[in-house]
Amino acid sequence: MAQTVMHEKATIRPQPESEKPRFPYHLINPVTENRVQRFLEAFAAIIEHTNYKPVLDQYARSSMKCSSCTTNCPVYTATHDAKDMPCYRSGLLLKTYRRHFTIAGWLRSKVTGDPGLVEEDIDEMANLFYRCTACKRCTMECPLGIDHGLMTHLGRWILGELRIVPKGLEVSTIEQLHGDSGNTSAILPHALLDTLEFLEEEIEEMLGLKMKYPVDEVGREFVFFPAVSDYLMEPETLMGNLAVIHAAGDADNWTIGTGDFDGINYGLFYSDHVLERVIRKMVGEVTRLGGRRILIGECGHASRTAREFVPVFGGDEVYPVINIMEYTLEKLEQGKLDLDPNVITDRVTYHDPCNIARSGWIVEQPRRIIRSFIRNFVEMTPHGKHNYCCGGGGGTVSVDELHDFRMSVAGKRKA
Ligand code: SF4
Ligand code: SF4
Repeated sequence: MAQTVMHEKATIRPQPESEKPRFPYHLINPVTENRVQRFLEAFAAIIEHTNYKPVLDQYARSSMKCSSCTTNCPVYTATHDAKDMPCYRSGLLLKTYRRHFTIAGWLRSKVTGDPGLVEEDIDEMANLFYRCTACKRCTMECPLGIDHGLMTHLGRWILGELRIVPKGLEVSTIEQLHGDSGNTSAILPHALLDTLEFLEEEIEEMLGLKMKYPVDEVGREFVFFPAVSDYLMEPETLMGNLAVIHAAGDADNWTIGTGDFDGINYGLFYSDHVLERVIRKMVGEVTRLGGRRILIGECGHASRTAREFVPVFGGDEVYPVINIMEYTLEKLEQGKLDLDPNVITDRVTYHDPCNIARSGWIVEQPRRIIRSFIRNFVEMTPHGKHNYCCGGGGGTVSVDELHDFRMSVAGKRKA
């Protein structure tokens, strides 16, 4: 046995470049032929059919190379690798835009002989755009307001048209848009009902109170969409949501819909096209149930996508969107929630999710709730809109292969 092991060790050789996986995440049937042409065609179609062009025109003309973005990026400050500089990463896309989609770039190439986009550029973008969590901390410090999170999103979208998308994101989205369950965790409606029953029993055991999750009730004010994975991984959150809504007197004023009960929208991470379709699905469910407002659970990106994009992609019905923390504060300030100010005496802090703090509108609300029942609340430095990303932004939390990157690089500064 020992001899076999020694023999195996002796034959270990460096893995040839050709055998190494190209990307740090798994893919499903990526495009392998004519990738440069396909990339440029996808880029051209997006420029033609969206409003990215003026943004690209402005960014392609401006960069002071001042590095303010760099020193504020949690990824760069963890690695000090020049390829993790926000302006380097966005520059890959912007130089492609300049070269292939501007007259000046095309003319310059005639003089310099610049061949433009090559295969290696596509591989580099595929790697680097998934090393940015789109947290937008760099954008706050850029004197020109260059939005590297947006460039990451656009770069991922173009790559997505070549099916260069982490498998975890693509499989979940296919299930959400085309699968039997219609959600990213593949929870079928009967499994949802079982789970809700179980959570109701848990609450009764904990609090001695009977509460029910309303399902497919028509004409209620709120239709509720948590991150569907909460049903599998964060049941306490959903139990808390139910308890708050009951205590606020809204037990008969909300519902969960079996047609769509998933607030997750991975389109935010890799495709406006997906983003739009998920929003339309959500709005369709609210219309089916005759709801009047969309209530999102604790999830940051779910809240931001619904709030920002229901008015854009939702069609004629623009349902107001409210996050559960906003709802809770509203009820607290209306005097409908009676919280014990001494219930928690331990020291507590709060992490601002980038999507609802820096890119959103929720900073003070959770703090006002926390201060009403936690005596020893302390802020981290920095916090609020200047908060550091936890490392799970931009969908990295949902891609298993990026776990080490998330824990040891992207989340290092925060930790
Ligand atoms: S969006 Fe965040 S992770 Fe991406 S480059 Fe900017 S600071 Fe770095
Ligand atoms: S902070 Fe803005 S202007 Fe300065 S290098 Fe970064 S992207 Fe360019």
